[in-house]
Parts: sequence; C-alpha cells; structure tokens
Amino acid sequence: MIVDLRSDTVTRPGQAMLEAMANAEVGDDVYGEDPTVNALEVEVAELFGHEAAVFTPTGSMANQIALQLLVPRGDELLCDSMAHVVNFEVGAAAALGGISTRTWTAPNGRLDVSLVEPMINRPNPYVTTTRAVAVENTHNIGGGTVQPLAELKALRELADAYGLALHLDGARVWNAHAATGVPLREYGRLFDTVSVCLSKGLGAPVGSLLITDAERAERGRVVRKRLGGGMRQVGYLAAAGRYAIANNITRLAEDHARARRLAEALEPYGICDASQVETNVILLRTPEIGKIAAAAAEQGVRISALASDWGRLLTHLDVDDAGIEHAVKVLGDLVR
Ligand SMILES: *Cc1c(COP(=O)(O)O)cnc(C)c1O
Repeated sequence: MIVDLRSDTVTRPGQAMLEAMANAEVGDDVYGEDPTVNALEVEVAELFGHEAAVFTPTGSMANQIALQLLVPRGDELLCDSMAHVVNFEVGAAAALGGISTRTWTAPNGRLDVSLVEPMINRPNPYVTTTRAVAVENTHNIGGGTVQPLAELKALRELADAYGLALHLDGARVWNAHAATGVPLREYGRLFDTVSVCLSKGLGAPVGSLLITDAERAERGRVVRKRLGGGMRQVGYLAAAGRYAIANNITRLAEDHARARRLAEALEPYGICDASQVETNVILLRTPEIGKIAAAAAEQGVRISALASDWGRLLTHLDVDDAGIEHAVKVLGDLVR
C-alpha cells in the first residue's frame, strides 16, 4: 500500500473525471473558441463574484499575471515572508515582472494587518512605492492556516485607505471555504485579483484560474500569451476542472477530518500540534524528519521533509481512511 502524503497535487483523475475529459467539446482557446474553457471561466468568475476569469496552466502563472497587472515595474508588492508568490515561484515577480517585494513575518502564516500598515510606502520620488499586498488563504507553509475573515476585511479597508490593490493566492481557498463555511464569493469580493488551483484538493490533473474584473482579465490574457500560457484545445483539461468544481468541493471536509485524525494520533509523540490543524495540512517539527521520511517511504508512506527540522503532510482525494490508519501505524512506530 502506497500512501502519498507529500502534497495534495499528487492525485490522479478517476474514471468519472476521465470520462468528462474525453467527452469535452473543444476548440482553439487562443481564438477564444473553446466552449468548455469559456464555460469554466464564467462558472468560476461567478463563484467568486467577479466579472471574469482566465484559465492558466499553473497557479504560479495565475499569480504572476495578477502581480504584473497590479504592480508596475519597479514598484512594490508586500506579502508575508513564507508566501508562495515570493518563495516558490523562482523569483518570477522580479525576473519577469520587475516587481520589488518586501515581506513581514507571519507566525503560522496568519495575517496580522497591524504589521502591514507601517510597511506601506506612499508614492514619493525617493522610495519604492507600494502598490499591492498579497495574502495566501489557506497558507501553505503556515500549515494550511485559514485567514480570519475579520482580518481580511480589515486588510481591504487598509488597502482602500491607501489606494492599494489586493491579491489573494487562493490555491487552497476551497479548503478555507470548506473549513469555515465562508462563501467563496465573500472571499472573492475582498480582492482585486484571485488565483485558484484546480489541481490541489479538487483533484484535477492540471489547471488554475485568475479571477478579476473584465478589463484586467483582457489584459491578463495578453500577459498569459506573453508567458507562453496560450493553449489550444485545452477544454479537455477545463472539463476536468468543471468536474472537480461540481463534485469535489464539499468532500474537502473529509480531507480535513482525516488530517485531524492523523495529527491527533501523532501529537502524543510531540512532533505536531493537532490544535493547529485547520484544514488538510499537518506540519511535523522534529530534527529527525529526514530519517523519519526515508524510513516511512520504505513502508509506503510518503511525506515531505522540507528542511532539516520540519516536514509536511497533506491529505487529499486519493487518501482514504485505510490510508490514514496505515500512516498512523507506520509514522507512530517511527516516532514513538
Ligand atoms: C501550489 C500553490 C500555488 C501554485 O502552484 P503551481 O504548482 O504553479 O500550480 C500557488 N500558491 C500556493 C499557496 C500553492 O500551494
């Protein structure tokens, strides 16, 4: 038995999703003629209460298009120091967008607006002008942390007061929605641009979207083409995304329950804090993480060692209760 907990990106499409893909009606999406892509973009824009959405191959591309739309070259983006946009997109904001970034430290990735306000540089010939703030919800490296709605609303007020734009890296905003019941539209309306991934908890093989207003979306299509993200009969992939949205959002609660079960089983050994597990991510903190990951892999349980003293597990569509019990046994034996 292989239980792959390294990431929620490792899922493979099941039979029903594959059938939806095989039966998709397609056309050339660079000409705007793929009916399945067009339907997906309309559906997702509506879910988040925005005018438009742009299908992209990856979440990184959706994020970087958004940042290029919000921050002129040489100006500044603020985000937390562990944010995906600044740590895991291989310098794209700087290399491709000419965007300067400055970061605040966020324990568990949780947004604290009081840290953001003093960082804002207003337009002035002697400073790097702040144009936008990016927030991640849920926060990946923070441990699947859900950003409190009140804090997001306070950030919106701050942004309006200073004339800043707000971007939501919502790769896992579906998990935040499933954990809190906050409507996706409620999250969406607080941000100028939102990126979402179909290829994480929702279980599609590929695909993300940038969600925004109609004017930005038009310019976003130009940036997407420039980045090499103009795809042709990509409705086959959009069909997987439409299937995922229709079928796999409410079931995220199962992933969250399994993550809690696993964290509670491992907590007595002092390597994780189950009270911090809000969604599908568990952080393990131990200097033995490298050894534990290697030994667990030999018994079919794969986890990610991300540094010398900590690692990460994620539950997802392809891990069932039996998989979790197997992981509890294998990891429990290794850490006891
Ligand atoms: C996975 C992820 C992305 C996008 O990643 P891609 O691999 O480029 O699709 C963006 N933000 C966060 C927080 C992520 O976890």
